Amino acid sequence: MIRSVLAPNPGPFTLDGTRSWLVGETLMIDPGPAIDAHVEALIAAQPRVATILVTHRHADHAPAAVEVARRSGARIVAPAEVLDDAVVSERLVDGARIESEGLVIEAIATPGHTAEHFCFFSSEGDLFTGDTILGEGTTAIFPPDGVMADYMASLRRLRARYPRAIYPGHGPVRHDAVEWIDYYITHREEREAQILAALADGPLGVAELRVRIYPELHPALRSAAEMQLVAHARHMADRGLIVPDGARLALAT
Ligand SMILES: [Zn+2]
Repeated sequence: MIRSVLAPNPGPFTLDGTRSWLVGETLMIDPGPAIDAHVEALIAAQPRVATILVTHRHADHAPAAVEVARRSGARIVAPAEVLDDAVVSERLVDGARIESEGLVIEAIATPGHTAEHFCFFSSEGDLFTGDTILGEGTTAIFPPDGVMADYMASLRRLRARYPRAIYPGHGPVRHDAVEWIDYYITHREEREAQILAALADGPLGVAELRVRIYPELHPALRSAAEMQLVAHARHMADRGLIVPDGARLALAT
C-alpha cells in the first residue's frame, strides 16, 4: 500500500506542499522539509519505518530524514553529498536495489533537476519521481546545477521503463504515467521551437526572449522563467542550434 503525507509547505514550486511517500509499513521516500508538525505526522503514520530513501538534496525533500531517523532508528539511503555522512547509512548508486516487505525498489539516476537526483522504481511498476516529474505543471531546471540535456535524457530513461503510475514529490499521483512523461518531453520540445521562432526575427537577450515566450508572467516568476530559458539555450547551443551573440542569443547560421 502506498500512502502520502503532505507537508505544510505550499508555494509556487512546491504546489500544495511536499508529498512524502510511505510504502507499506517500513519504507519512506522523501521525508521532506524539517518542520516539526510534519515529522510528527510521518512518525504517527508509519511508526515502523525502517528505510528512508531521499531523491535529492533540496530543503523541501531531504532534511526531515534526519529527525525521522533519529526518532525511529530507520536507516537513511541517499545520493552522494545529500545530508551528512554521519547520518546516512548507504549512498545510492545507479541500479541499486533496496528490498522492502517483498518489494524491490530500483534506484535510477536521473540528473537534470539537480545533478544528484534519483528516482525510485518498484518491482510493481510504481515510479517515485521527486522533482524530476511533478503531478501537475512542469519542474524547474536552474543552471548550473540543473542541466537540460541531462534532464531530457532522464525523462527518456524513465519512459523506457513504462511505469504504471507516477508518485511525484509535489502534486497528484499520475495514473497516465507514460502519457504524462510524453507531455513533459513534448513541453520541452515545444519550448525549444518557440525559442527558435522568436530568434528567427533576430538576436534577443534572455529578458527579451522571456517577454516573447511568457508575455503575461507574474513579476515574481520572471527570474525563474529566465533561468528556464538559459537552461534551454545551453542545451540548444550544445547541439549547434543557437550561438551567443554578445549578451544575446542568435540562431546559428
Ligand atoms: Zn528540488
